Amino acid sequence: MRLDGKTAIVTGAGSGFGAGIARRFVSEGAQVMVADINAQNAQGVAEEFGGIAHHVDVSDGESVDAMVQRAIDVMGHVDILVNNAGVTHLPAPMETISEEDFDRVFAVNCKSVYLAARSLVPHMKERGTGAILNIASTAGVSPRPRLNWYNASKGWMNTATKAMAVELAPDGIRVNAVNPVAGETPLLKSFMGEDTPEVRAKFLSTIPLGRFSNPEDMANAALYLCSDEASMVTGVCMEVDGGRCI
Ligand code: ADP
Repeated sequence: MRLDGKTAIVTGAGSGFGAGIARRFVSEGAQVMVADINAQNAQGVAEEFGGIAHHVDVSDGESVDAMVQRAIDVMGHVDILVNNAGVTHLPAPMETISEEDFDRVFAVNCKSVYLAARSLVPHMKERGTGAILNIASTAGVSPRPRLNWYNASKGWMNTATKAMAVELAPDGIRVNAVNPVAGETPLLKSFMGEDTPEVRAKFLSTIPLGRFSNPEDMANAALYLCSDEASMVTGVCMEVDGGRCI
């Protein structure tokens, strides 16, 4: 029970990495708010293992404020925030990405981190403790062609993690990031453009350990970084990528 008595908000927990992280946190003793824009998925995941489902749009300030307030009301306090909700645009030449897609990617992947910090950091400061984990991507460390602005949004998350960590450390708040290589989640199809054996093989050939990541890989890293075992760890952007960024 490595998170005994802890409380957490996990965004984008209705599927993929977020669901895996939420499930693991609950199994380690935490109370978890399963927050997602897909209310049905959030409900399904929460019912499966006893989390608290919450509908949120992480790119909307009022919606994020309401999520944080409900988390405090229902769980009493919030120890951990995992900013996991994310979107990408379809792979395409950078000059062809629409302004709408650009805005959507930066709103969901980046602005959301600011909005959640704006809402939750005062509470964490008051308590003198907290752990924030940003789920970024290897795309932000070693960009892939045609994922241009998505790459840039994940690079932003890495820099934001360090900026937050250095500023919030005196308040006892740790901020780290995980950089996953693609997993077998709905996002994978968007990364690959088309899901054919050839495209898969090409994608896999860039991962030295020879497999896609899975939600358990991310849950293991998230559990460590958000638990007290990592009490001396802040500002770290950890690749969980089978060696892709070596
Ligand atoms: P991965 O797990 O690989 O990051 P997924 O697409 O499986 O990719 O998970 C991303 C999650 O983020 C989905 O459950 C999706 O509904 C959620 N999400 C996307 N946009 C938002 C948003 N604006 N607010 C909250 N959750 C969102």
